[in-house]
Amino acid sequence: MESFKGQSVIDFYKRFSNDMDCLAYLAEKKWSNGFKCCKCGHDKFTVRKKNLARDCNMCHHIESPTANTMFHKVKFGIHKAFGIIFEMSATTKSISAAQMARRFEVSYPTAWMFMHKVREAMASSEKHPMKGDVLVDEFVYGGKEDLKQGRSTDSKKKKIVGGIELDEKGGVKRAYFKVIKNYGSGELRKLFDSHISTDARVVTDEWTGYMPISKEFNIRREKSNTRTFFQINTIIHQLKSWLRSVYSWMHDWHIERYLNEFSYRINRSVYKDNIFDNLIGRLLSHKHVGLKDIVVSA
Ligand SMILES: [Zn+2]
Repeated sequence: MESFKGQSVIDFYKRFSNDMDCLAYLAEKKWSNGFKCCKCGHDKFTVRKKNLARDCNMCHHIESPTANTMFHKVKFGIHKAFGIIFEMSATTKSISAAQMARRFEVSYPTAWMFMHKVREAMASSEKHPMKGDVLVDEFVYGGKEDLKQGRSTDSKKKKIVGGIELDEKGGVKRAYFKVIKNYGSGELRKLFDSHISTDARVVTDEWTGYMPISKEFNIRREKSNTRTFFQINTIIHQLKSWLRSVYSWMHDWHIERYLNEFSYRINRSVYKDNIFDNLIGRLLSHKHVGLKDIVVSA
């Protein structure tokens, strides 16, 4: 089976015209390295025509293509789920849950919930820290001060620290963000520990919070109004305007997932053609996530 490539809506709906097309894709991908019964380990099976589930020839345990994955219990249909994932992966700016609900004829909570599952799957593995030239800056989101750069002590606003890795031409290669409680070095370093290599050449503004971190990381501090920060300021501006268009129901524990989505799209933009297939793979290998996990997790 060939994996789906590209961003054409026409191609997409040609390839996936109903639930069965999508289930076949999932089954192929899920068992691409062969089938092994999860109950007894046997590798021979019979395929059930109705939902392409595999019936173990030894113990007759039945496993559907969606079992033990994030597609488990997607009651609104796998075809719509594929459509939403395509929408979230192929476009440069994803739409809000309210718009998604209307376009796919599902309820608002259904769209909202499923989109959060997809964002969960978009989370970074934190296995590939940023290297080379990296710019770091902190900012706030929320309220009327949105457009202002820099630190704010307003407790209602979300404090975020972001970093970008530059490519050879000085363009943005990757971007990561962390929500922080304050601008102390203990909080700021969460971004460094998760996403920045210790040998990266990091530039920050002159905020003293970065000083203790420079013991372990290679940090150069510069006045924040220099041209150096142009790229990261642009990304932060894009992030804020995107958040304003998609982000409702604002709760502290949700913003991380929006940041996942924003980063995921930037970081995979060089592999745009494979982004849908990559995301399907991530949802397949991710365990089932329930409402509790989405709403309660911090
Ligand atoms: Zn079995």
